[in-house]
Amino acid sequence: ERTVSVSGSGSVSTDSERTPVRVDSQDSQVSDGEPGDSRWPRQNSLSMREWDIPFDELKIGERIGTGRFGTVYRGYWHGNVAIKVLNMDYYSDDDKTLEAFKLEVSTFRKTRHENLVLFMGACMKPPRLAIVTSMSKGMTLYTHIHLRKDKFNMNKTTIIAQQISQGMGYLHARGIIHKDLKSKNIFLENGKVVITDFGLFSVTKLCYGNRKGNVLSISPGWLCYLAPEIVRRLRPQQNWDQEELPFTEASDVYAFGTVWYELLCGEWPFKGQPPEAIIWQVGKGMKQTLANLQASRDVKDILMLCWSYHAENRPDFAKLLTTLEKLPRKRLARSPSHPIHLSRSAES
Ligand code: ADP
Ligand code: MG
Repeated sequence: ERTVSVSGSGSVSTDSERTPVRVDSQDSQVSDGEPGDSRWPRQNSLSMREWDIPFDELKIGERIGTGRFGTVYRGYWHGNVAIKVLNMDYYSDDDKTLEAFKLEVSTFRKTRHENLVLFMGACMKPPRLAIVTSMSKGMTLYTHIHLRKDKFNMNKTTIIAQQISQGMGYLHARGIIHKDLKSKNIFLENGKVVITDFGLFSVTKLCYGNRKGNVLSISPGWLCYLAPEIVRRLRPQQNWDQEELPFTEASDVYAFGTVWYELLCGEWPFKGQPPEAIIWQVGKGMKQTLANLQASRDVKDILMLCWSYHAENRPDFAKLLTTLEKLPRKRLARSPSHPIHLSRSAES
C-alpha cells in the first residue's frame, strides 16, 4: 500500500489542502526518486527536507524534561505539541547519518495508529534537529508504576498489555523496530496506551556524549529492557558509529516482557542489583525469578516466553495479542456482559 504521489499528477486535491504539511507527497518523491532523478539532485535533498517544519514556525515553551536523545519542550505548532530537540553533534562530515535519519523520519510519518503518538514532523535545520509530536496529556507507565506506586489489577494490566501489543504489532508490520520500548515511553491517556519514541535509538549516533565515550553509560532504567543478544554486545568502549546493537522485532518483544513484569510487580526485574551483575546474568540466560509473583501460570508463561534467551523462541506481537485476549475472559467468566474499562483512579 503506497501513498499516491500528489506531486507527480500535478493536481492537488482539496484533501491535501486541508493537510498543513503535504508530507506524503514529499515522501513519495524521496523514496521513488531514482538516483539520477533531476527533481531531486542529491546535493539538494538535504536542504529541501529542512523545511518539513520550519524551525521559526515552532513556538517553543517550557521544558518538560531531558532524556538520552535530547530535551523535550512544550510547544505550539497548529495546536499544542511536544518538541524534542536533539542534542546533536555538529555533523559537517556526517551527511550520510543525517540522511539515514531523515529516511527513518519519513517512515514515522506514515504511522497512523491510535496507540502510537502522532508524529507531526521533523525540523532539520542545522545544527538544530527537532521532532514534533502530539502532546501526551496523561502520565507515563513509569510515573504510574515507579513514582506513584499505582497498582493495576489483572484486568487493567491485561488491557494495557493488549494495547501495547496492538501498537507494537502495527509498528512491526510497517517494518519499524522500536528499539527503546520502556515504561517511560508508554503514556496512559484516559486509559488509552500511547507509545512514543519509536525508532529514535539510531539518533544516539548523532548525540553528544555517546559518540566517543570511553565508558559505557547505562542508566538503571535501561538495562533490564535489553535482550541477551544485545547485552552480550555491549562494550565499555562502544563505538556507536560503527557498531550497531542488534535490535530486532524479537528484542522489542523482550522489552515488552519487562514492561509486563513492571505492570505485574510494580518494580523492575533485577531490582537493586549492580549493572555488572545484571549483564552477567542476562548474558548467561538467567532470568528474574518469579517465585514471589502471585499470578496464574498463563501470566507467568507470557513473561518467560518474551524473555526467552533465543530470539526465535519469543512470540511476536500478534501471538501475544491472542494470548492476552484469552486472559481476562478466563478471569471474568462470571460477568461476561460488562466491558472492562480502566478505572478513573488510574487515569490522570
Ligand atoms: P525518557 O523517555 O527517557 O523519559 P525523553 O527525552 O523521551 O526521555 O522525555 C523527556 C521528558 O519529556 C519525559 O518526562 C517524557 O515523559 C516527556 N515527554 C516526551 N515525549 C512527550 C510527549 N509526546 N508528550 C508529553 N510529554 C512527553
Ligand atoms: Mg521518551
